[in-house]
Amino acid sequence: MNKGFTHSRETIWHISCQTCGFYWTYPTMKINETPENRTWYCPLCGQKGTSEEQKDIHDTQS
Ligand SMILES: [Zn+2]
Repeated sequence: MNKGFTHSRETIWHISCQTCGFYWTYPTMKINETPENRTWYCPLCGQKGTSEEQKDIHDTQS
């Protein structure tokens, strides 16, 4: 069979605004990159700030 494809793991972070409830996603190919330690702007209400990981939702192993 011809190998006509390549693939790479992508991480998609789910960012939620605590002011208005809007959420969006941030995809990255860098496995160690997290949404922490940077400033975010809500595209809906304009809220500005840093992000903290939501600890009550854990990664699952299938
Ligand atoms: Zn917002």
